[in-house]
Amino acid sequence: MSTSVLVINCGSSSIKYALVSDRREDRIYGLAENLGSAEARIKGITFGGQPLELSIPYADHEKALETVLNRLSQYRPQAIGHRVVHGGSLTKAERLTPEIIDRIRAATPLAPLHNPAHLIGIDATMRLFPDLPQVAVFDTAFHQTMPAHAYRYAVPKFLYTEHNVRRYGFHGTSHAYVSNRAVQLSEHMEKGGWLSAHLGNGSSTCAIWNGQSVDTSMGLTPLEGIVMGTRSGDVDPSIHSFLANNLGWGIEKIDKMLNSESGLLGLSALSNDMRTLIEASEQGNEDATLAIEVFCYRLAKSLAGISCGLPRVDGLIFTGGIGENSAYIREKTMSYLPHFAFELSKEKNNELKRGTEGRIDGGTGPQIWVIPTDEEGRIAQETRTVVDHLTAQDSTAAVAAV
Ligand code: AMP
Repeated sequence: MSTSVLVINCGSSSIKYALVSDRREDRIYGLAENLGSAEARIKGITFGGQPLELSIPYADHEKALETVLNRLSQYRPQAIGHRVVHGGSLTKAERLTPEIIDRIRAATPLAPLHNPAHLIGIDATMRLFPDLPQVAVFDTAFHQTMPAHAYRYAVPKFLYTEHNVRRYGFHGTSHAYVSNRAVQLSEHMEKGGWLSAHLGNGSSTCAIWNGQSVDTSMGLTPLEGIVMGTRSGDVDPSIHSFLANNLGWGIEKIDKMLNSESGLLGLSALSNDMRTLIEASEQGNEDATLAIEVFCYRLAKSLAGISCGLPRVDGLIFTGGIGENSAYIREKTMSYLPHFAFELSKEKNNELKRGTEGRIDGGTGPQIWVIPTDEEGRIAQETRTVVDHLTAQDSTAAVAAV
């Protein structure tokens, strides 16, 4: 296998990993889950596409990483790339140094569920592999190009200047990957305006002008924006005082309700899974039908809204589990966007095979693409860029010293 990068995404009780090399077919990937419990295990795909299932009872993050890395050491990864959700004001991928780790820790209040888990993984891999270059790639970094009028909230200025309250945006690696890929696929459109809809269990939209994010639907946290699997997306912030005053709810209960019990699950009272909702709707379940309708309408509204950040709309990209797989959701969403001259080809939309990329517009208006996202591939690519840059700097310094 050619030079490879090990990509790690640590959650509170799970670790996703992927060994990314030049050929996508060679990718080795998996998930260590239920960490810390008797059911801890690794499930994945090994070289050549063979399935792997390994029980690692009571393994913690370090033990699980050690197991994964021992199995992969024969492939000699060139570096490790860590997905980190919140990079605060960091604008690009960075080599992990004590200073960068401190900055990830400092951003913890902004991503209390994610950053502590990433730090556990970083700590473990730094101890296990002190000689391998390690890089943090941030979900927020791509959106650091947003102008102030897109990232500031209309709240007192000191909350921004003293407490970093602003819109950050997430899913940056996905929006960056698919928009870059769309430019490659569409040719001659290096400069231009793209709208990107990442629709999975977590969902967001992004407006990209000449390769840079100019607006996005998520904000201070990944709760803002469009309807998601269990997250509400935008609500009137007064819902907090309404629920506190009328139902006696505390902040934690409200937070949990908005993050874990709302969205498609909350609206349908059935499921956060779009497939289940489409099936239920076909069988006449009205709550499922409404959940789908709200999802598509609010998505279209968000795309129309962030299009204000673009001088021109040249194309739209659907990605994520729902965006890549559901022709029905794509068509319904486009039906709420009649005023942008988009012309969806129903035929191409319906014929697009799952998991493949393809263009689904009729050829007259802005392009419409379905592009399977590849966050691991993008993280590996950014990691390589950082490592190559550092190597080049080292050689220049060595030559200067001679
Ligand atoms: P992700 O978080 O990107 O893995 O996406 C998960 C979401 O994709 C879930 O809501 C799934 O129901 C949805 N999904 C996957 N396949 C399909 C499909 N064929 N039709 C509709 N939704 C799908």
